[in-house]
Amino acid sequence: MTTPHRKLIAGNWKMNGLTASLGEARAVAEALDREPCSARVAICPPATLIAPMVQALKGSEVLVGGQNCYVEPTGAFTGEISAEMLADAGASMVILAHSERRQLFGETDASAAEKVLAALRAGLEPIVCVGETLDERQAGQTLELVARQVRGSCPPELQGCAFAVAYEPVWAIGTGLTPTLEQIEEVHQAIRGLLAEALGEAGRTAPILYGGSVKPSNAREILAASEVGGALVGGASLKANDFLAIIRACG
Ligand code: PEP
Repeated sequence: MTTPHRKLIAGNWKMNGLTASLGEARAVAEALDREPCSARVAICPPATLIAPMVQALKGSEVLVGGQNCYVEPTGAFTGEISAEMLADAGASMVILAHSERRQLFGETDASAAEKVLAALRAGLEPIVCVGETLDERQAGQTLELVARQVRGSCPPELQGCAFAVAYEPVWAIGTGLTPTLEQIEEVHQAIRGLLAEALGEAGRTAPILYGGSVKPSNAREILAASEVGGALVGGASLKANDFLAIIRACG
């Protein structure tokens, strides 16, 4: 099986970034303007920075995304932000069901699938996150768990749509630990099979990103691995130079 799309390198700023941080995003965009790269590049800042970042990156190829959305388009849901609002602010994609949302905010495969539908309704490209905890890996449950997450979080409506899946082993996020290349390839190949079976052409071609302690020193080999269609980058996306080094590692 192949990954024909351009690789997608998406930065997840999590709950980091104030107006002053827009300079880092601008530095990424300016560097890519001077020396274009082969990858699609996105930054997903906190919601407060989406509109100003879109403004700051105007004219550049760097896309802006959200980190979560609610399922309804409008209404009495204090504190929530709809997919339509993200799109209105200029976002073109949204990270969904990140493990921090699953672990800290009770998100499930079912809520992820609903949010995918909301993202599609608003014209956003969803990045659906899956991945096992250390206990699940040590118990030999990784493939079974990831299969359940992919089946439960990726509804059939994704057929014909642009989307990505991010495989992020929970134990590798923010820890400096990374799986072996063999472990990454095993899970990515399994996800590819599941997506192809469930979603046809869209499932055969959607990028499957790896996420979890991607940094300049390991990006090249991870991005060259079979069925790795890009990276979801947390900590290393906060500094323009590190993020650019990862982007350049796509070749
Ligand atoms: C993430 O939060 O999606 C992530 C991969 O974080 P980090 O790169 O910091 O491990």
